[in-house]
This record gives sequence, structure tokens and C-alpha cells, in this order.
Amino acid sequence: MIPHDFSRIDPKRRVNLDYKKRQFAKPEFKHQKYEHRLNYYILPPTAEITLEEFETWAINRLKVLSELEACTFRNRTPEETAEYMTSIVNKYLPLRSNSSRGQNLQEERKKDHYSHFILRLAFSATEDLRRRFSRLETMLFRLRFKDDDPRERKDFVSGLKLEWEEVGADEKRELGNELAAAGGVKGEEQEWFKVDWERVPELVEQRRVLLKRGKAYVPQREQISLVVAEFTRRLDEALELTSRALPRLDEDDRLAPILAHLSHSFTSPDAAYSSSDASIDGLSTITANAIDTLSQHFPLCMQNLHMTLRANSHLKHYGRLQYTLFLKGIGLSLDECIMFWRRSFKLMTDDKFSKEYKYNIRHAYGDVGGDANRRGRGYTPYSCQKILTEPLPGPGQSHGCPYRTFTQDNLNALLQRTGVNDKDLLKVVKDDVSKQRYHVACNRVFEWAHRREIKKVKDDGTWSATDLDTIVHPNTYFKRGWLLKHLGDGNAGVVNGGEKMEE
Ligand code: SF4
Repeated sequence: MIPHDFSRIDPKRRVNLDYKKRQFAKPEFKHQKYEHRLNYYILPPTAEITLEEFETWAINRLKVLSELEACTFRNRTPEETAEYMTSIVNKYLPLRSNSSRGQNLQEERKKDHYSHFILRLAFSATEDLRRRFSRLETMLFRLRFKDDDPRERKDFVSGLKLEWEEVGADEKRELGNELAAAGGVKGEEQEWFKVDWERVPELVEQRRVLLKRGKAYVPQREQISLVVAEFTRRLDEALELTSRALPRLDEDDRLAPILAHLSHSFTSPDAAYSSSDASIDGLSTITANAIDTLSQHFPLCMQNLHMTLRANSHLKHYGRLQYTLFLKGIGLSLDECIMFWRRSFKLMTDDKFSKEYKYNIRHAYGDVGGDANRRGRGYTPYSCQKILTEPLPGPGQSHGCPYRTFTQDNLNALLQRTGVNDKDLLKVVKDDVSKQRYHVACNRVFEWAHRREIKKVKDDGTWSATDLDTIVHPNTYFKRGWLLKHLGDGNAGVVNGGEKMEE
């Protein structure tokens, strides 16, 4: 699978590649037909796709995997996870069964297939990434396996030709009581399979199979565990092989940066910023004066900057930049933003402000700076990923994400200052932070602060799970929070990724 846009590999260099690399550089293109909805991802894709598809498909799959991971971080039950994930998967990675008679089944399956392999490339470099990827892909497979059309699922499983030995009638009779004790029903009343016990560690651990002479006797209803365990085993092996092949990818400087960005995003989920994260219908033009009131809806990173600014009448460079871009993102115009900073730096002379500070604000908005400055649009508001991965603030600096940069005691105090006083919540936030799940902690606080409104929009069905998915951008935090607190004001529609639901 090689994106077909232009190649930047020097043709002379390509001629000198050894035969393995040549084989890699000149794939034979072939279109595959997908008979089943489910896929064990045995055959790598070989057809052409564009670089844009390469990236978008991978990002969409990553979104699904990140949401699945968030479900485990938050201890959602399998049922809650399945419910939460339905609309997320339908939006980012739909995969319908043959019986749905959908128009684009082949396209959906192709996207699923290709995106899996792209992420395999991105996440095979280190042991930790491989483990996480394998765990999340397994969760996704299990989710899909469970809700597949039963007949199609059966066809898929028999097509896998897994080497399970069926337990014959004689053996079932012979082991009657033992099978009954292991399976909960009479051994002869259901189908059993025999496999090497190492292939079903999960079932062995939970004592849901009979172990005898190195074999595990697995009842039919546990088939899902067998299929899933086999899926994981094969994926783990394939990831190992991919990691060994990775150095060859260095030849291709089109893919390396995309793959690096993807694996980076796995560490801390990224959000592409779109202008839909900014403007809010129904929120009248924002003025410098409104920021104090609006700041109650800001995420902790921006509330911290706002409070520090009010306390010191000053913020250092990176804090100013982070906050200016956020304010620009919520819809504050350049003039109002300059006014906001001018008034906030009240101990400073006009002259000093104009000479030392005004230019940077205009630069952030793209008013000055020319071509290098994003063609006049200025800089994009920072995502959580950007804020969470930049160097820690030094003395006197206040930028960054407080969930990461504050000590536990200071974080608790800051949260309490902003009205978060639920002891149980503070305890789980502490736990999240100790596991470096900063954005999960932030989402918990958001959901706690908006719990009544979230319940309402869920109960009356005006917002779907994708409207309430994991927040990974401070501007989404603000916009979603503001809309939730103003539900009755004709702002029943929401926002995420640019959609506005029917009011
Ligand atoms: Fe801000 Fe994101 Fe940190 Fe929340 S997780 S405080 S939105 S940087």
C-alpha cells in the first residue's frame, strides 16, 4: 500500500536499493474484495491510495481507538462501552454487514483494512505502542464481533480455518461430569472444541474451560474468546515483524512525518482545529469586557492563565501566546484582544505596551508577519496535545496544562478555587494524574461540572455520543461548556467537528 502522490525519493537512489527495498518501493497493485465485514488483517493492502486518504483514514481510526482507550480509563462496563462507541464508530469508521445492503460496503471495508495497516506501521516501533495498539484493536474487533450478523459471523469464523478440534461424542461422554463442571451445563448438550491451552489464556485464567492433557476444552458459547485470542496472537506476531521492517520505511520521506505524527497523537490525543470550534451561534460578539464572565466556562489551563493575569497584571510570553490564541479561537477580534491585554497590563505604560507587546498579539492573529505567518491567518489555537507535550513551564511561567504541571496539592487547590469540591471526583482526578492521563482528568471535571445538562441532552436525545466525545482541545471545552450552560437560549445544537444538530 503506497500512496500514489508524487515521490520525493531520488530516482538515482532508488536504482541502488537492494532487491528487498526495490520490492518495497515497487508494489504490485491489486484490488481486494472484502467478503466479510470482520477482518483478521492477514493480507496487507496493495492498491493505491492518496496521501490524503492515507492520513485521514488513519486519523479516523485513531479517534476510534482513543475513545475506546478512554472507556477503559474510565472503567466503563462492556455494555456502557458498546453504547458509547456506537455513534463514534458509525461516524469515523462505519462497517456494515452484508445484510444491511449498504451502498459502500466495499469502500467501508477498504478504509477499515487500510487504516488498520497504516496504524500498524505507526505503532509498531516500541514495545509500549505495540502493546497498546494490540489491546485496542482487540477491543474493537471484539465489539464488532459481538454485534455482527450471526450468520455472517459464522461464515467469517469458518473461513478462518482455525485449527480447533471438535470434541467427539465418545470423548464428551467420557468427560461428561468434568465438562459439565467446567461449562455449567451438561457436557453432552453443547459443542466443545479442543485447543492447546496457551491459546486461550483468558479463559484459563477465569477457569471457564476444562484443562486436560495440555488441552483446553472450550464450550461453543466461549467461541468469541477463541476467535479474539487468535486475533490478538496473530496481530502481536505481525506487529513484531512490522517493527523489524520499519527501518526500510526511512527511504520514504512522504510517510515518515505522517507516521511520526500519528504515533505522537497516540501518546496524547490530538485534535485538528477547525473554525467550528470557535464561533458560537447565539453568542453575541465577544468584547474584552466579557472575558471575566466567560472565563468560568474556560478549561483549567485557561482559567489558570486568567487568574494569574488578574493577580499579577502580567503574564510571561508563552502564557500570553497560549491565552491569546485561545481567545482568538473563541471569537475575540484582534482589536478587542489588544484592548483586553492593554487593560489587563494595567501597571504598564501605553508606550511600553505598544512597543513590546502589541506586535506579538497582532502576529498571533496574522495581522503582521507575512507569508511565514500562515498566510495572514496567524497561528492556530493550541490543542491539548500541543499544550501537554511542550516543555514544562519555568519559574514565574504559567502556561501548560495544570493537570500536568501542578503538584498534586496545588492542583487540588486550583480545582477547588474553580468550584470543583466533590471529594470523590478529586480522588479519581488524582489517580488519573498519577497515571499521566491528564486529558481524562480534565474530561471528568468537565462532565462533573455539566452533569445536569449532559443528562438532559442525553435524555431528550438532542445530543449524540459524538457531540459528547472526549475533549482534546481547550476551545472545544469552552464551546461545549458554554452551549450546555445555555441550553434554553436557542442553542440546543452542538458542536463538535463542525456539526450542528437539529434543534
Ligand atoms: Fe487545557 Fe487540555 Fe489540559 Fe484540559 S487537558 S486543562 S483543555 S490543556
